Formats: sequence, C-alpha cells, structure tokens
Amino acid sequence: MKYCSSCGEDVAKRIPDGDDRPRYVCNGCDVVHYQNPKMVVGIVASQEHKVLMCRRAIEPRKGFWTLPAGFMENGETTMAGAIRETWEEAYAKVDSPTLYRMFELPYINQVYIFYRAKLLDGKYSAGPESLDVQLFSEDQIPWSEIAFPIVTEILHEHFDDTRKNEFPVRISEVDPVWQRKGPKQQPE
Ligand SMILES: [Zn+2]
Repeated sequence: MKYCSSCGEDVAKRIPDGDDRPRYVCNGCDVVHYQNPKMVVGIVASQEHKVLMCRRAIEPRKGFWTLPAGFMENGETTMAGAIRETWEEAYAKVDSPTLYRMFELPYINQVYIFYRAKLLDGKYSAGPESLDVQLFSEDQIPWSEIAFPIVTEILHEHFDDTRKNEFPVRISEVDPVWQRKGPKQQPE
C-alpha cells in the first residue's frame, strides 16, 4: 500500500499506539489501514459418488481442474459465498450444504472453507471462469491435472469418507513446503 484510501496522502508502515505490530498508517489523516486474511469458500458437490469439477479458464493454473470456489464477498455468509461460486463457475445448484473442510494458509494470509452438498437437479455447465465442468468418479478424476494440492487432498478425503459414509470436519494448516510437495498423488 502506498497511498491512503481515505485522503490520498502517503502511508507509512509503523506500529500504532497501543498496537503490537506494524500497520500502514496515513501520514495525513492518521487512519490505520488494517490488512487481514482473505476467505476462499467452495463446495464439494457430488452426485452418485461423482464430484463436480471445473477446468480453470483463468490463471493461475489455467487448464487444470479444481473445485468450485472463490473469494468471499462482503455482506455474504461463507455458505452463501460457496453457493454463489458454485453457480458462477459451474451453473450448478446444490442442496443444503454442510460444513466439511477448512485449510489455513497463514503464509499467504488465506483461509479456505469448503462445504459438501448434493447437486440439486443434476444440471451443470461451464461458467465464464471455467473451460469445462464435469462430474468425475474416483477413477475418472484427472489426478495429474489438478490445479492445487489442497484439491487433491480434499478429493481423496471425500472419496474415503463416501466409502465409510462418515464426513468429519477437518482442519489443517498448509505451509509452503506442503503446498509445493502436495499430498499423495494417487488414490489408495
Ligand atoms: Zn489519510
């Protein structure tokens, strides 16, 4: 950040009175510009043991497969954001999403929250940010073309959970090494 969004003056990074870490503080109007983590929300949408996936039409990882997900907007709940992203990217409607998975990525200041849900009417098609949308069974998943390691992780968990018919909510912290190396690459 270089300029104050309130008055346009330069900002400087310093610890405000009573605070314990550096913030961008305006040299003109003294407003403190707090920066906090961003939330990414998405859905593992399934139908008869198949999972809905989107082939990305945009960078990063254009052409690779992911789950419908995106940044939460102001004024919406995490569930509403996840439902909105599933519609925008896959033109799919889901029935009664349930909280399923949380990843914390403190090294890039992001938190991912995924719900799981059944497809409502079985309809789906590619939205503007997707090249293609498909329902994949476990043996149809293009495992070598997954956009992000956390997507591989959550897919393995979801297929395992589906076999057991138990869907515990899991939370894990992702670090840069995990992100680069990724989880196991093949289904067991
Ligand atoms: Zn200012």
